[in-house]
Amino acid sequence: MRSRLPSGASRGQFPMIGNHRCLDFVNTELIEQGRRVDLLQDFGDLVDWLEQAHVLGPAQAKQVLRRWGRTSKGAGALSEARAFRRLLREMAEGIVHGKRPSTVALDKINALLRSRTVDVALVRTRRGFERQVSFQPSEPQHLLVPVAESASDLLCHGDLALIVKCQNPRCILYFYDATKNHARRWCSMTVCGNRMKVAAHYQRRRRARERKPASRGVRRTSRGAG
Ligand SMILES: [Zn+2]
Repeated sequence: MRSRLPSGASRGQFPMIGNHRCLDFVNTELIEQGRRVDLLQDFGDLVDWLEQAHVLGPAQAKQVLRRWGRTSKGAGALSEARAFRRLLREMAEGIVHGKRPSTVALDKINALLRSRTVDVALVRTRRGFERQVSFQPSEPQHLLVPVAESASDLLCHGDLALIVKCQNPRCILYFYDATKNHARRWCSMTVCGNRMKVAAHYQRRRRARERKPASRGVRRTSRGAG
């Protein structure tokens, strides 16, 4: 896995493997070298993620950073983002185990949906006219609205049985399995898929090695009582 240090100075790519924005948001926490890592260390990281998730365009991301980066409002939005992410992770975990999303999670999604601010404009297109809706955050908390919209879309229109946790027990990434035969098992074939295959291979070899002495007819010593 490409190493991604969790500091703002070394910003890199976020894993965008979730197939739903809200799952990609959950996946901003991951396990790296056995350690749980939070990729959202500061407000700048949150803005970076929003840009990579195509919530903000590059110019809008810069504007948002200029406005709220290094401010208490920005810091507040970051802690709200982390709290919301925790709710979404619990929701995904619960769904995987057949549980319904909690009222707390639904309330938070609804609160964000209610705070939605958009700009609607009539624009000329090559074929005629179009009504264009653009996302206009007037408070930094509004940056989370598109994530809440994604969660609401997933709950309303998604097949919840297709929300899956990566099968690597040491991985905490979630995704929506959009493959044709619904057989996706890994967050990434090149990361967890290969890792698990290699682990299974060594396990098979070790078991084969352990079986060898027994197959040579070595008699087990009987354990004495006491
Ligand atoms: Zn994984």
